[in-house]
Amino acid sequence: MCPRCHNNAVGVITHKRFFSLFFVPLIPLKWGKRCKCFICGYTAEVNKDTLTRVKQGAPLVLS
Ligand SMILES: [Zn+2]
Repeated sequence: MCPRCHNNAVGVITHKRFFSLFFVPLIPLKWGKRCKCFICGYTAEVNKDTLTRVKQGAPLVLS
């Protein structure tokens, strides 16, 4: 469940960060997984355990 809007529309997204030069992404720096609410756009970094549970359908609960 989203901690901001309390809807249950939270999914897992892959977050990519690139080293960019003149706004052209050149080198991938980091791939990370985040949870995102598709209604209000809230995103949160989550650890692997939480990700596994969210993928299995458990609500996202952020402490
Ligand atoms: Zn939300």
